[in-house]
Amino acid sequence: MLLRFWGTRGSIATPGPGTNKFGGNTSCVEVVTNSGARLILDCGTGARTLGAHLLSHGPKPLQAHILLSHTHWDHIQGFPFFAPGFVPGNSFVLCGPTGCHRSLPEVLSGQMEYTYFPVELGQLGAEMKYHDLAEGIHDLAGVRVTAQFLNHPAVTLGYKLEADGVSLLYLCDHEPYWEKLWRSEAEPGKLDSILHGGDRHHAAFMENADVVIHDAQYTPEEYPAKRNWGHSTYSYVTNIAAAANVKRLFLTHHDPGHDDDFLCGIEEKARDIVRSIGSPMNVSCAFEGCVESFENISPDHEFVDTPISDPICGCSLRILIVDDDEDIRVLAKKALTQAGHRVFEAADGDEGIRQIEKRKPDLVILDLVMPPPDGIEVLKILRSKPETASLPVLVLTARGDEDSTRTSFELGATDFLNKPFTPPQLDSRVRSCFARAAKAQ
Ligand SMILES: [Zn+2]
Ligand SMILES: [Zn+2]
Repeated sequence: MLLRFWGTRGSIATPGPGTNKFGGNTSCVEVVTNSGARLILDCGTGARTLGAHLLSHGPKPLQAHILLSHTHWDHIQGFPFFAPGFVPGNSFVLCGPTGCHRSLPEVLSGQMEYTYFPVELGQLGAEMKYHDLAEGIHDLAGVRVTAQFLNHPAVTLGYKLEADGVSLLYLCDHEPYWEKLWRSEAEPGKLDSILHGGDRHHAAFMENADVVIHDAQYTPEEYPAKRNWGHSTYSYVTNIAAAANVKRLFLTHHDPGHDDDFLCGIEEKARDIVRSIGSPMNVSCAFEGCVESFENISPDHEFVDTPISDPICGCSLRILIVDDDEDIRVLAKKALTQAGHRVFEAADGDEGIRQIEKRKPDLVILDLVMPPPDGIEVLKILRSKPETASLPVLVLTARGDEDSTRTSFELGATDFLNKPFTPPQLDSRVRSCFARAAKAQ
């Protein structure tokens, strides 16, 4: 399996003398398997140079799968400049997360309207097919691709690629679910010691991986001012990847404000973390033009033979929101109704339990902090009754409340969402929560 970085910058392209070493183009990664399957991960501005390279050196006609993590600018801006897209005879399958308010071709054609660009999406010469992805396992060009939602303000998927005896994950853009990684009394460095269920799930996704490419845009010092922007710190990524027994870690999605010297410093600090915890993991900052090949790193590793799933795509759910904060109920109802769901409301715990019995929702969004009975008590009641023991419950958590958050993990909350949240984030988390509950049954 060949891996090549064409764009390593986050947010906006940042060319110039200060970024020559690590590169100024935004996210774009190319993976080619031994059998010749080509997967392009994101189409930031790095896709332009990838396209030029493929025109001169690539097979003719060219076929590739383009996997978009999400459709923020820095992940799609290179697409209109990807020259092989203009060549008749070439064919591409564009894959991206479902659950957005607009389809993938609608979003991509939006940035190619005449106001912004001289050629429309429909005028591209190559064949373009579109494939909506949700959480689940997919077979793309013979590569086993597992998609899992990341924590980002837009609906965003992380991808695990398995081929040639190698597992490689691409996890951009992602923010820690919880500011504190480890439980207070637990031994750090173990998956079981991770405080938040979301971070534990994220770590489990990359467990024993050969290669992980992860968003590490910020330093821990910068993070508090950038909370909820959807990005990680190098220390979170290094710690969580080491705990997950990852062999090779690439930090990427570099901040546009970090020049080469600064990134060398980040690389050193990440290596210090690895040394201090005694992990054998190899960590570096990804740079544009970096090429590495990985061959049968784990020849004895048997990929779990889970069947290729037919993931839940764009389904409409009956959802009950239990929250005493009317503003949150209104915001959540509006966002979820727009996303195609049917939504009911309850302003307190007692009303919530009555509504669950009467309306039998597919999923409950439950606030923890309410006048009695609070979210914890409601969750206890739900889990004690056979008919609601496995009802998917998405718990709304507020930062800094370790005790009640932990209690809700232990009581069997299905998933957690931190306040404040954005409408697309809520929809993606509702879908992943429902999919996880369905998988667990
Ligand atoms: Zn990004
Ligand atoms: Zn983003």
